[in-house]
Amino acid sequence: MRAEWIAAGPMAMAMLLCGKEEKVLGAQKAPGSCPYCGGGVAATDVEAKWVLCCLPLCRRTKRRFACTACARRLVTYPAILHDD
Ligand SMILES: [Zn+2]
Repeated sequence: MRAEWIAAGPMAMAMLLCGKEEKVLGAQKAPGSCPYCGGGVAATDVEAKWVLCCLPLCRRTKRRFACTACARRLVTYPAILHDD
């Protein structure tokens, strides 16, 4: 046990025991274009799983949008998406 782990306390111990796994389920081209550079947008479906001592706690699938040209994460993309 390293001294800094003891100093950090229970939070650090919890961090050692649980973790987050992400698995990319698939990617597809999304309609619209990047608001920053006008490039194409890719939608990526990611399954996130929280793991505690190798036991999956919860699992959820989310969709992420990113620009294929400038690689920016488009966090607010669904809100600004207009399908025309
Ligand atoms: Zn872009």
